[in-house]
Amino acid sequence: MAQSLDPATREVLLARVRFYRDLGLTEYYRRPVDPALAAQFAAESEASESSVQNQTGVLPPTPRAPSFPLLSAERVGNHEPQPASAPHAYPLEDQPIPPRKPFPAAPEISAAVPAAGRAAALQLIRDEIGDCTRCPLHKGRNKLVFGDGSPTARLMFVGEGPGADEDAQGLPFVGKAGQLLNNMIAAMGLRREEVYIANVVKCRPPGNRVPEQEEGATCTPFLFRQIDVIRPQVLVALGATAATWLLGARQPLAGLRGRVHAFRGAQLIVTYHPAYLLRDPRQKKEAWADLQIAMRELGLKPPAKA
Ligand code: SF4
Repeated sequence: MAQSLDPATREVLLARVRFYRDLGLTEYYRRPVDPALAAQFAAESEASESSVQNQTGVLPPTPRAPSFPLLSAERVGNHEPQPASAPHAYPLEDQPIPPRKPFPAAPEISAAVPAAGRAAALQLIRDEIGDCTRCPLHKGRNKLVFGDGSPTARLMFVGEGPGADEDAQGLPFVGKAGQLLNNMIAAMGLRREEVYIANVVKCRPPGNRVPEQEEGATCTPFLFRQIDVIRPQVLVALGATAATWLLGARQPLAGLRGRVHAFRGAQLIVTYHPAYLLRDPRQKKEAWADLQIAMRELGLKPPAKA
């Protein structure tokens, strides 16, 4: 059956199976649907189990992802510009973030919009943003990334900002990190069209750097209004930047994960950014634990093992 799969579909299937494997749901990829796929999964399974042995101390632990000195300098206030090719900040997610300026007060929660009017209300916000030049990020933008998904979603994800793929397509989370987010959503038993996805800033920061204070402060009022319109039951902050801007306080991610916060009428769960999980797949189990908190709040049941 799988021999007739086109390469793109095959890649999607493999990515999904790898995601389940990293969560420990091994039965998903051990089912011998196709001999070639089964052989590939079996080989990857052995590699994965070696990795688990590493974590249990049978073998030396895998080294942590490297830190990035340029970003560290920026975070302690040196404000050295990052080169366009600088790696992204996510490997620093568990490090303490020193305080800088206080966060601006979030606007009052706006009145509830009936479900039938939410698509139109979101379009009004998009129209108001227009061809935005309110902050410096507009200078390097190809396409503004407003948000994507169901206007009546019960679950909303908030990331940091568009990357190169998102900037090119005008949609959030469409690159490799987006594929992983799609797999995370599928593992929750949902489809991407059933959730809503947006970012702290709607234009790509140069070199994928963390948005500056001024940029986040200028753009997040639009995000807050999107949240007010959609009224999700559960919000998932993907990474330290999203958590920081939603909660209005700089804290290490480790101190924010594993519990439910309150934000604009929603239950807010904090987890790792998919781009960080791509760099350090060992954290996928931690992310899955966070998503299970979200599922519990939504009344969703974990997928049964095959
Ligand atoms: S990031 Fe937001 S505030 Fe800045 S230019 Fe883009 S849409 Fe406007």
